[in-house]
Amino acid sequence: MKALDELTFDNRFARLGDAFSTHVLPEPIDDPRLVVASPAAMALLDLDPAQADTPMFAQLFGGHKLWAEAQPRAMVYSGHQFGSYNPQLGDGRGLLLGEVCNAAGEHWDLHLKGAGQTPYSRMGDGRAVLRSSIREFLASEALHALGIPTSRALCVIGSSTPVWREKQERAAMVLRLAPSHVRFGHFEYFYYTKRTDEHTALAEHVLAAHFPQCREQPQPYLAMFREIVERNAELIAKWQAYGFCHGVMNTDNMSILGITFDFGPFAFLDDFDANFICNHSDDRGRYAFSNQVPIGQWNLSALAQALTPLIEVEALRETLGLFLPLYQAHYLDLMRRRLGLTRAEDSDAKLIEHLLQLMQSGGIDYSLFFRRLGDEPAEQAVARLRDDFIDRPGFDAWAAHYTARVARDGEPRQDLRRKRMHAVNPLYILRNYLAQHAIDAAENGDYSVVRQLHQVLSQPFDEQPGMAAYAQRPPEWGKHLEISCSS
Ligand code: AMP
Ligand code: MG
Repeated sequence: MKALDELTFDNRFARLGDAFSTHVLPEPIDDPRLVVASPAAMALLDLDPAQADTPMFAQLFGGHKLWAEAQPRAMVYSGHQFGSYNPQLGDGRGLLLGEVCNAAGEHWDLHLKGAGQTPYSRMGDGRAVLRSSIREFLASEALHALGIPTSRALCVIGSSTPVWREKQERAAMVLRLAPSHVRFGHFEYFYYTKRTDEHTALAEHVLAAHFPQCREQPQPYLAMFREIVERNAELIAKWQAYGFCHGVMNTDNMSILGITFDFGPFAFLDDFDANFICNHSDDRGRYAFSNQVPIGQWNLSALAQALTPLIEVEALRETLGLFLPLYQAHYLDLMRRRLGLTRAEDSDAKLIEHLLQLMQSGGIDYSLFFRRLGDEPAEQAVARLRDDFIDRPGFDAWAAHYTARVARDGEPRQDLRRKRMHAVNPLYILRNYLAQHAIDAAENGDYSVVRQLHQVLSQPFDEQPGMAAYAQRPPEWGKHLEISCSS
């Protein structure tokens, strides 16, 4: 276990030079104070969790102090935003402080979000508000606990610095961790500006740092693209299976590592709704829940375009063709598990689709349905759940199909079925209204709610004594919170 001043840096991205990022110092926020820290994320840096309570912690992650070995840089990238190419993006309010090596030999990017203006801030103030910082913190750690690949969050530091959004708010910083902050938009930037040497250098960096196994392949760049396609197919299958809506799947928010990245107006579904749009600014529903799969493919094709100087077009096209079948296979596998089924049958896709139709028409809580389905033997569980559905004959037909399917699957022991199902069906989900409660309290200086919520969500599958309030359906007001891009 290390203290903060014992971290070791190896800043590989910074060494790529000024064509890739610009040196910028963090701009401190006033009266920095710890809002919440994640001991699990601290462990990734071998940090002693007690370090979170030291004055140094809030000073480092509030932008007041910096390690001598850190090299704070604002990265340049571009990307497709809502389908249109924007040539001028980059870290407008975040800095890559450096890469920390842990005892396991891993590198972790330390990215300080809300660290002030950079050459890429455009009209922005370079700040992040407390509300959005708490949302990113909670989402990162909650997704990780669900087994969904994501960037991580070490802490949120609050402050008294005023910032203006629709109203006056307070600035905060969130320290994000990820093995890499390279986005699809990094490749797009060097492709569209025709900087061939830098484009190749970026690809070489990504291969060496993140996909060393691809270098052994006859076509390393193609192997790398294939890996990116595979990881994103698996990631989006997990989002769909667990009802996670990202909200802003622009190519500058897509990670080459296939991890959930750049949290904005995200949401977990409460009632199942395939057409759910979590981003209040997304008028046309480009990033609606059910569009995440085709948009994932669209984004990968934007990346493929940006890789054409390195990889033959036909090979890119063929590899892109793997996305949908891979997605479908992962999704079916996850949904079978959520239904407690261990073997595959051809009719499973239909069984799942039918259930989702019934959930949609009945306004069924997406997470709790699966949890309750495992609580009791299949026949009893469906009999109890039936009352929630509007289309009862439809549900009866589905239930008959499902219980027959469970019988064929051949698990005679309910205790084992329950254990298996509860291990994949969370009891606690980061619902928007729960995040809102935590934010409201934190804005009034009470950080106990966000800390407790974080703790509950770090073990989402285990029933925790005294925490039943976190496992309820949302109140009516809590289903219609409007979250927009502005944060
Ligand atoms: P996002 O919607 O957070 O993915 O941000 C899209 C782009 O806008 C990125 O280049 C950000 O760095 C930039 N940006 C977002 N908010 C701000 C802000 N408050 N100040 C400066 N730049 C920002
Ligand atoms: Mg972004």
